[in-house]
Amino acid sequence: MISRRKLIKRLASLPILGGLAGSSTLLADTLPSTTAAVAKRDLIKELGLRTFINAAGNYTSMTASLMPPEVMETINLASKKYVMLNDVQDKVGEKIAGLCHAEGAMVTAGCWSALVLGMAGVLTGKDSKKAGQLPFLEGTGMKTEVILQKSHANGYHHALTNTGVKLIMIETKEELEAAISEKTAMMWFLNREAPVGQIKHEEWIAIAKKHGIPTMNDIAADVPPVENLWRFNDMGFDLVAISGGKAMAGPQSAGILMGKKHLIEAARLSAPPRGGNIGRGQKVNKEEILGMYMALETFINRDHDKIWQTWEDRVALIDDAIADIPGITTEVVIPEVANHNPSLKISWEGSQHGFSAKDVGGDLREGNPSIETIDWEEPKSLRLTVFMLEKGQDKIVAKKLKESLAKRTA
Ligand SMILES: *Cc1c(COP(=O)(O)O)cnc(C)c1O
Repeated sequence: MISRRKLIKRLASLPILGGLAGSSTLLADTLPSTTAAVAKRDLIKELGLRTFINAAGNYTSMTASLMPPEVMETINLASKKYVMLNDVQDKVGEKIAGLCHAEGAMVTAGCWSALVLGMAGVLTGKDSKKAGQLPFLEGTGMKTEVILQKSHANGYHHALTNTGVKLIMIETKEELEAAISEKTAMMWFLNREAPVGQIKHEEWIAIAKKHGIPTMNDIAADVPPVENLWRFNDMGFDLVAISGGKAMAGPQSAGILMGKKHLIEAARLSAPPRGGNIGRGQKVNKEEILGMYMALETFINRDHDKIWQTWEDRVALIDDAIADIPGITTEVVIPEVANHNPSLKISWEGSQHGFSAKDVGGDLREGNPSIETIDWEEPKSLRLTVFMLEKGQDKIVAKKLKESLAKRTA
């Protein structure tokens, strides 16, 4: 223990602080005050950052989703107290597991981190020494390979390689059976690509169980439907990973890893507050952990049917606004798995119109207010979503889209 007097003496010997050290309020003033009133500053305005109406979706580059007041209240309150980081993970993990029919759960630094830490847990088991050895598997006795379907390898599978594992790609059931060996640590599944992969969920799990191999499902952007939060735990996946900041509107940098209790406990050996492991940089603070839990609960308790109806109404309102513009056709598109919600595809494919998706998307982006849309790479169509819109913004999107299309087709 350093006495106060000693500390002041030490500070006084520092050249820069020396002049201040005589002040008796020095120590108090250097502590952050959680209660003091501060002037409100809008840094987004101050820094001149462009804000926009999000008719695109919960893209990482667009800062994903907006956190509801329940989550912000949780974050604010949590910021005023010290608690032990492990205790927060323990308590929140139990609650999340209960909500999602899992044995265990933890809040991670996004879905990517859930993939890394879950994979690490599978490899190390509850052996801290092994956690310190990742990503160097050779000579450790740890298994070294993960099997996945080629069609599921769309980029996110790279998260697994952070642990040092080798990816084995297969396409058919026969190739899968042939690829399984004593080196196989896990069989990974990407929910979004389930419709295109030859091997579906149940068969993937059945084959893995037959060989005693754990399975993981990445369902990052796959709510709604809300039931997906527990469907894959019920189905028998050993681990399920999901993003917190996408449709669930939690902190953008949070996610959830859930599944078998022993695997969650093992995954935490590679996560903060423990150091000297591959996950040390994937820290989630107490505000995010508690905020994630609140976002999950808030999301589950929403009136999902009513919200779906609101989305359909918004799409219809925008659709109606541009119905009279010559050469323009529209289609309601609902992605089957990820980002499953009604979006509007606006097309002039069959027309003589010479303008491109970039022209219309650019008009909206550069307008006031700025509006972001998607699928600009299509030459003669673009798409917009309505699930990230705030109340009343559908009318603005409809008006601005109509103005752009009317100008471009005139
Ligand atoms: C977005 C996404 C991730 C990464 O999620 P973060 O929460 O941004 O870390 C992983 N897998 C898939 C399929 C995704 O769509």
